[in-house]
Amino acid sequence: MAILVLEDQCIGCRLCLKACPFDAIEMVGKKAVINDKCVACGACLDACKFDAIIREEWEKEKKDLAQYKNVWVFAEQRQGKIMPVAIELLGEGRKLADAIGVSLCAVLLGNHVEGLALDLIQYGADKVYLGQHPLLEKYTTDGYTKVLSDLIHKEKPEIVLMGATHIGRDLAPRVAARVDTGLTADCTKLEIDPEDKKLLQTRPAFGGNIMATIICPNHRPQMATVRPGVMDKAKKAEGRKGEIITFSVALEKSDIRTEVVEIVKAHKTKVALEEAEVIVAGGRGLGKAEGFVLLEKLADKLGGVVGASRATVDAGWIDHAHQVGQTGKTVKPKIYIACGISGAIQHIAGMQNSDIIIAINKNAGAPIFQVADYGIVGDLYEVVPALMDALDRVDD
Ligand code: FAD
Repeated sequence: MAILVLEDQCIGCRLCLKACPFDAIEMVGKKAVINDKCVACGACLDACKFDAIIREEWEKEKKDLAQYKNVWVFAEQRQGKIMPVAIELLGEGRKLADAIGVSLCAVLLGNHVEGLALDLIQYGADKVYLGQHPLLEKYTTDGYTKVLSDLIHKEKPEIVLMGATHIGRDLAPRVAARVDTGLTADCTKLEIDPEDKKLLQTRPAFGGNIMATIICPNHRPQMATVRPGVMDKAKKAEGRKGEIITFSVALEKSDIRTEVVEIVKAHKTKVALEEAEVIVAGGRGLGKAEGFVLLEKLADKLGGVVGASRATVDAGWIDHAHQVGQTGKTVKPKIYIACGISGAIQHIAGMQNSDIIIAINKNAGAPIFQVADYGIVGDLYEVVPALMDALDRVDD
C-alpha cells in the first residue's frame, strides 16, 4: 500500500508538506513528491483539499511471493555485543529454515562489528549480511529502518525475525510498514505449516486468555518479534562455516532526524526475589508508579521485598529486576501478596509454587483468585493500609 500524488491535480499549495509528520513529502518544481520516509500514515490525504493524493489499492501492489526466499534474523548488537535474543532467534530460525529447506541468514548492522559475523555463523547462520557505516554505530530509528528496509527490498527474505527488545519493538513495525507487510509481535511459538510452508505465528491474545495463530498470506516477508528469554538459545558450533556478505550502506546524515548524544546505562537494581520469604507484588491495579511506595511499606513491615507484574514494568513504574513470571523471576516465598494483579498465565507461571498466596483485587472474577489461598475482594488502596494497621496492632 502506498501514497501517490496525482501530478495533474497537485497545485503545489504545500498543505501536505505541513501535515506530514515524517518529512516524507518534498516539492519538486511545483509538485509534491513522496519520498521513501513515507510510512503511508495518510495524514497528507486528509490535508489535501484538491483530491491530489490517493492511497494506492492493495491489489495493485500484490507481490510475487515466489521471489521471497530464506529466513532472516536481525542480529541486534549493542556496543559491539550481540544481544542474547539474537542467539535465541538463530536457534528458532534454524528450525524454520530447515522445515522450509532454505538458508538461515543473519543481518548485522553497526560500525566495526565485523568480528561478530563469525559468531553468528557458529550459532547457525548460513549467511551473514554485514552492513557497516559510521552512522550505524549507535542505533537510530531512521538509520536502521532505512538500511534494513532497503536490504529487504533488494534481497527479498521470506521470513524476518527480530527480538522484542526496546530496539526491536521500535524497529520492527517501522520496517514492516516500509516494506508493506504485517508484523506479529511477541510470538511465543513459531512453526512452519507442513502443507503450504507458511509461517504460523502464535502469540497470546485477549489478555493471555487464548493463543492466536496468525498467518501473513498475501505479503512478504512474514515478520515476527519474539521476546528475550522465550526461545532456547542456539548451540555454538566452533569451526562452522558460512558466507559473510558485506553490502554497501546508502545512508546520509540527512536521513536521520535524531542524534544520539550519549548512551547512559540505567542503574540496575538488584532484588533478591528468589530468596525472599515474603513478596508483596503490585500490578496495573496500582494505577501509578507511586503505588509501589505503599507496597514497599507493607513489604518492610513483613520483612519482605516488592515484586511486580510485567504490565507495571512495561509501564516504566518499576525496574524489570522486580518482575515475577514467565519472562521475569520464578519465586517460591512463604507468603506472596498479589495486589491489583489479574493473574495472567504468564504471571502465575512465576509464583504459583509460593506456600501461601494472598490476592487483593477489586474484581471477584479475577483469575488470580483461582490460585490464591486467601482472597480479598476490594480496593488495594483501602485493603493494604487496613492490613498495615492490623499488623501495627499485632506489634503493639
Ligand atoms: P492487568 O491484567 O491489567 O490486571 C490489573 C488488575 O488490577 C485487574 O484484575 C483489576 O481488577 C485489578 N485492579 C484494578 N484497580 C484495582 C484496585 N484499586 N485495587 C485492587 N485491584 C485493582 N506478565 C507478568 O506479570 N510476568 C511475566 O513474566 C510475563 N511474561 C509474559 C510473557 C509473554 C510472552 C507474554 C505474551 C505476556 C507476559 N506477561 C507477563 C503479561 C501478562 O500476559 C499480563 O499482561 C500481565 O501479567 C498483566 O499484568 P497485571 O495483572 O498487572 O495487569
